[in-house]
Formats: sequence, structure tokens, C-alpha cells
Amino acid sequence: MSDESEPDPCNDCREPLQDALARTVRLTVDRSQIDRQRLCPECFADWIDRYEIEMKPTDDSANDESEIIVD
Ligand SMILES: [Zn+2]
Repeated sequence: MSDESEPDPCNDCREPLQDALARTVRLTVDRSQIDRQRLCPECFADWIDRYEIEMKPTDDSANDESEIIVD
């Protein structure tokens, strides 16, 4: 109980995550923010992989303009 400044956990793996290592991703569709996550570098890499698979443009269904913003 000596250290109360425990860092916020990664939103994915729940490991304590130092701000210096954190990656914040924001996913927007048509300029509306639909997702925001604070991730460790490992989960960030996984997230990007998942995003690229799920959001891969499929023929004509790409009506929504989506965008990842990484801070
Ligand atoms: Zn993580």
C-alpha cells in the first residue's frame, strides 16, 4: 500500500501501463468517435492487425468513411 500512483491499465490486457508507453487509438466513422482505447504497445499492434482485417474494404460496402487516429 505504499504506491498509490498505480498507472492506469491497458484497456485490453489490463496490465498496468505507464503513460510513456501508452498508445491511444481513436476510431472514427463519419467524424463520430466510436471507439477509444488506451493500449500497451503489444495490444496496440494486435489492435491494428484486427482493425486492418475487419475494416478491409470490401467492394462497394465502403460507404462509411472510417479513420484511425493514433496519439
Ligand atoms: Zn495490453
